Amino acid sequence: MMEKIQIKRESKKFNENDIVRVAVAHGDGIGPEIMNATLKILDAAGANIKADPIEIGEKVYLSGNSAGIEKSAWQTINKNKIILKAPITTPQGKGYKSLNVTLRKSLGLYANVRPVTAYSPYIETNFPNMDVVIVRENEEDLYAGIEHQQTQDVVQCLKLITRPGCEKIVRYAFEYAKAYGRKKVTCMVKDNIMKLTDGLFHNVFKEIALEYPEIESNSEIIDIGSARLAAHPERYDVIVTSNLYGDIISDIAAEIAGSVGMAGSANIGTNVAMFEAIHGSAPDIAGQKIANPSGLLNAAIMMLNHLGKTNIADTIKNAWLKTIEDGYHTADIYQEEISKAKLNTIEFANKIIENLGHKPTKLPVSNFAAGKGKIEIPKYVRKQQEQVLVGVDVFINWQGNNPQEIGDALSNIDSFKMKLKMITNRGVKVYPNGLPETYCTDHWRCRFVDAESKTEGQTVYNAIEFEKVIALLSKLHNAGFEVIKTENLYEFDGKRAFSLGQGE
Ligand code: NAD
Repeated sequence: MMEKIQIKRESKKFNENDIVRVAVAHGDGIGPEIMNATLKILDAAGANIKADPIEIGEKVYLSGNSAGIEKSAWQTINKNKIILKAPITTPQGKGYKSLNVTLRKSLGLYANVRPVTAYSPYIETNFPNMDVVIVRENEEDLYAGIEHQQTQDVVQCLKLITRPGCEKIVRYAFEYAKAYGRKKVTCMVKDNIMKLTDGLFHNVFKEIALEYPEIESNSEIIDIGSARLAAHPERYDVIVTSNLYGDIISDIAAEIAGSVGMAGSANIGTNVAMFEAIHGSAPDIAGQKIANPSGLLNAAIMMLNHLGKTNIADTIKNAWLKTIEDGYHTADIYQEEISKAKLNTIEFANKIIENLGHKPTKLPVSNFAAGKGKIEIPKYVRKQQEQVLVGVDVFINWQGNNPQEIGDALSNIDSFKMKLKMITNRGVKVYPNGLPETYCTDHWRCRFVDAESKTEGQTVYNAIEFEKVIALLSKLHNAGFEVIKTENLYEFDGKRAFSLGQGE
């Protein structure tokens, strides 16, 4: 039996009338204005949300706290497990850590869920039928933040993709589709190039898709996928992708849907969830009381739905939709020929409050209450695999520019039955038999394998002892080579688990 972790909203932990304490960050810039408007609407709708304020953002940064969050805020978050967050301003300059990244990673908020819908003709867009949900992995990938300068010429950033990370996010996307009546999940990756990392994401997607035969699934390479999303967003339903790609395509989606001020997003973890607008603190209009509170309100609606307060979520969403279709708009979405009135933030909130209990007649009516089932993410179970060391990539800082020279020198190293198999520079094979045209930096990846490994067509790798790697490194060091890092080469269950050099 697989142990299930339940996410609160779907486990219907709260009833519509329960009082729920939420950690509320009023944020910076327009943050306090849109938060006050949002809380006023929630209050008027009887959402029974008790806001426990937390101090995060610019003031905290400028007080010398480089993380931008007070200890007391962590305590409130820990107690309440739900955060409603207005945008914050990250001060310019070095040394300030991104609060969003800190919150997402520290709290294990692995799924960033961003529904982007067009509200045409009330909000101007070229894509009136757009209604897409982007489910972005939120914790790993290139955002693990592991970067090094290794030589004078070369810096690197590690792209970490994990099986548990892929399983959680992909399953979340399918479960989301099931719970919200969505028909299709599209995976976007670049596994034609990154065969191991994006390949893992894609393989997990294909495995998990089989468990949801009722939901259509397909995969696209991220470059053409994002181009198609920008040109034909109405063709997409749910998109699941890794952190960096998701960051980019969710901004593309929000931009083409109309106003950056409209969309909310959820950051979902196993125990904690955080809800926020997708836009920033808009310092250019801060204090003018004209900001559109819709992004934060939509985030709050997602929060209510997550908590199990689906009827109240629908009531507020429908009142908001009615307000939009009746033409009561904030300045950012005001259109002379369509809008009836240009309202400031609080006037707009008051109009929504007036509309509580009413439904839109032209825009689709919100019906979270009809959502089916629970989102359940099984706890990750690591399958045992046989892991066999078959070689090592030794990265060497070498200032020469003739691959033959370093290749011959390394081939002559007497290294306890390990032999140099090849050298690459920036991933391209330059030894043996490189091309003179290949540009070489000072960063040489030198692959050593067991001397008896045979290459006839494909290489058959022999297992090696790690002691041989240590001895090799010692020999290289004594021969005057500067080893800057090593990467062990493994087979898992007999399958090569490292990439070949380009041209190998
Ligand atoms: P922004 O989203 O704040 O503003 C971009 C443009 O959109 C501005 O012209 C702004 O006036 C407008 N806009 C944004 N939200 C609006 C709303 N609700 N109503 C009406 N107009 C709105 O992006 P930016 O200017 O690049 O960033 C400003 C600050 O926000 C920066 O300090 C940035 O670091 C921060 N930021 C925070 C978050 C967050 O806390 N989640 C996200 C993005 C940016």
